[in-house]
Amino acid sequence: MGSVCCEHCTAACCHYIALPIDRPESRRDFDDIRWYLMHKGITVFVEDDDWYVQIPAKCGGLLPDNRCRVYETRPKICREYKAGDCDYAGGSYGYDELFQCEEDILAYVKQRQANKNGNKTKKPRKARRAHHGRRGAS
Ligand code: SF4
Ligand code: SF4
Repeated sequence: MGSVCCEHCTAACCHYIALPIDRPESRRDFDDIRWYLMHKGITVFVEDDDWYVQIPAKCGGLLPDNRCRVYETRPKICREYKAGDCDYAGGSYGYDELFQCEEDILAYVKQRQANKNGNKTKKPRKARRAHHGRRGAS
């Protein structure tokens, strides 16, 4: 938080963490991701070929007026996060892939298998969402 657009935002970037995960390869890997997605609020996304799990959680540093209680000593990841291409300002922010429920990952696995088998009648889904998309808390 810190740019002028932060004045109009409810600190979207301070309400979750996104952690990198190994790129799934095996049936078991995808089954684990399915399990993540069975938990309310959890999403998994792919950006620049890297996979992340996103966990909703309000930062303890957030004040009731959506300002940062520890702004001067905020963690490095928060300092590196730039308003302008963020959850609020980056309205057209897009992922390579976004999975919001277990059906999403099951459909992805099915399509992946079909592509492997040479069935290219349908392209893999390309999800987009207007907000969220950071790699860590801010
Ligand atoms: S989401 Fe963007 S505008 Fe909102 S507080 Fe974070 S950096 Fe500022
Ligand atoms: S420490 Fe970071 S995530 Fe927490 S309120 Fe401050 S800027 Fe937001």
